[in-house]
Amino acid sequence: MQPQRIYLNGDLVPYADAKIPIHSCAVKYGAAVFEGARAYWNAAQEQLYVFRLRDHVERLFTSLRLMRMAPRFSRDDVVAAVVETMRANGAREDVYARVTAYVEGDGDLDASGPVGLAVDVRARRLTAKDALAARVSSWVRIDDRSMPPRIKATANYQNARLATVEARADGYDTPLLLNTAGKLAEAPAACCFVVRGGVPLTPPVSAGILESITRATLLDIFPEVAGVGVVEREIDRTELYVADEVFICGTAWEITPVTSVDRMPVGRGAPGPLTLAAADAYARIVRGGATAREAWLTPVWS
Ligand code: PMP
Repeated sequence: MQPQRIYLNGDLVPYADAKIPIHSCAVKYGAAVFEGARAYWNAAQEQLYVFRLRDHVERLFTSLRLMRMAPRFSRDDVVAAVVETMRANGAREDVYARVTAYVEGDGDLDASGPVGLAVDVRARRLTAKDALAARVSSWVRIDDRSMPPRIKATANYQNARLATVEARADGYDTPLLLNTAGKLAEAPAACCFVVRGGVPLTPPVSAGILESITRATLLDIFPEVAGVGVVEREIDRTELYVADEVFICGTAWEITPVTSVDRMPVGRGAPGPLTLAAADAYARIVRGGATAREAWLTPVWS
């Protein structure tokens, strides 16, 4: 699918015409928040399902509130815009939607509006590999006291960028960032899980992470798919070196195994059983293969 149309403030405009002024607060100060949601094509049902769209929209409104940005659009408007943009682009394959809410005027640093809304849908672009070589970043994760990671603000991703550039320059696939307390926080656009002694562990939402929807999904489904619940607790750096399994998760990354950290193999250096069980279950649920989880799916085509 070649994306033809972008939703911009109520209109579906040709791709090349989706522009915002250079002097908008979004460009000048990075005054923007966003969401990334995925939709999965179910060929048997000839249906495209957006995964947990309402939860993404709810998080967008949390980000707006924390940024003290005052939108004129409602949650329902955002849901409709995502569905409409997918339809306008004839999406009948896996796609990724980026929803951006931005301060569009040429205001001062504290301008809270007007808030523009854009939805950009493109064919699923997954960088995921089967096995990631990770390094613990020398950059520290941003902190709730300065740039709260709970806000999905575009500006927050400069921290992720620095860490990613460093990791790639050093020959790794991804960095893992520690927080200001020296505990595991997250990867640049994904949360982290570590398995020790058969128990999946993940840092708490107060560890300097985004409150990830994939992470919440895994907390929900792990008991069912692997017969064991997830423990949310602080994780030390050295636990990464003695873990049986490590994986990262997120809308874009789905569930991707980390098979080495700082060149030390994780477990046997191959994706572990709990990682694979979670990845299989997740893949089934998002495509509409689990009736018990259908409430998480928004159908695009009627
Ligand atoms: N952390 C960060 C910083 C992210 O950008 C993302 C991607 N949205 C995640 C974690 C994973 O969140 P989700 O599962 O909601 O995509």
